[in-house]
Amino acid sequence: MSTLPAFNPPFERMALIGLGLIGSSLAWAARRYGLARTIVGHARSEATRARAVELGFVDAVMPTAHAVAANADLVVLCVPVGANAAIAAEIGPALAPGAIVTDVGSVKGAVLRDLLPHMPPGVHIVPSHPIAGTEHSGPDAGFAELFVNRWCVLTPPESADPAAVERLTSFWRACGMSVELMTAEHHDLVLAITSHVPHLIAYNIVGTAADLEAVTRSEVVKYAAGGFRDFTRIAASDPVMWRDVFLNNRDAVLEMLGRFVEDLTALQRSIRWGDGAALEALFVRTRAIRRGIIEAGQETDAADFGRRDHET
Ligand code: NAP
Repeated sequence: MSTLPAFNPPFERMALIGLGLIGSSLAWAARRYGLARTIVGHARSEATRARAVELGFVDAVMPTAHAVAANADLVVLCVPVGANAAIAAEIGPALAPGAIVTDVGSVKGAVLRDLLPHMPPGVHIVPSHPIAGTEHSGPDAGFAELFVNRWCVLTPPESADPAAVERLTSFWRACGMSVELMTAEHHDLVLAITSHVPHLIAYNIVGTAADLEAVTRSEVVKYAAGGFRDFTRIAASDPVMWRDVFLNNRDAVLEMLGRFVEDLTALQRSIRWGDGAALEALFVRTRAIRRGIIEAGQETDAADFGRRDHET
């Protein structure tokens, strides 16, 4: 990846709290691109910590979040967003002045709410959301290229130190990402429609199909290529992570869900009334959106659900 921007000087000590898909991918990326001299990690379970050492993406693991955060100049919380508040309370007293604390959570308003009260003076909090992922979880799921050609949204509070924001921006760029800054509130609204509601729809349709009595389970599996299969990929995403997303972005998700239900009702009416023109007009518009996503390099146009390995 010689085309990625350099990051100099590297962080002295990057502390990762959470060593699953995102934490391990970040460690692999930091190793590959020389973004940190030492990488230390903590995860809740002994099994995950041992696996991280075995896979070799951290220099050391520690049994507490407090211990990894001590003396770190970059701390990254890579846990489900519901775990942030307790971790922030634990690491607050250990943080060194000048440290940058960020996270990777899919919801941003709740992160500021949960972290800010525990940050001592002189510590810079700059929340991040790397919009890159797969439906896989755990330390074995990570890979360095996860972030390449993807967007990362930073939601610094108004009081954020511009130098810390700039340093973190350069860090994500060196992982291969494009970076955009916005308010946490705007992030949560945008992601509600681009990510959270689509996941909810996938969870719902897969659940509905599983509950149908007139269609047997074997038929659902056998004929899945008719469209259902793509929904099952999304609906296989980590249950705890997504539980926390919906609990922590409630207002924006309910707002977008309200609009979705209204539009679905309009579609239902078009079908009932045989309004083919309305149906076709919508499908023409949505096809153009798909083309735009491909042209922006955020998806391939390979046929047959043709995703590259690791692609989400
Ligand atoms: P993951 O693969 O399930 O990993 C979560 C990690 O957090 C595990 O190592 C887990 O430890 C650890 N953990 C959970 N609770 C903890 C606690 N209380 N204290 C310490 N460690 C704890 O999840 P992920 O996909 O990496 O997601 C992590 C974050 O990234 C989430 O906030 C999510 O919103 C965000 N995100 C995810 C994606 C995606 O596509 N997956 C994309 C962008 C952002 P154990 O293994 O020991 O349980």
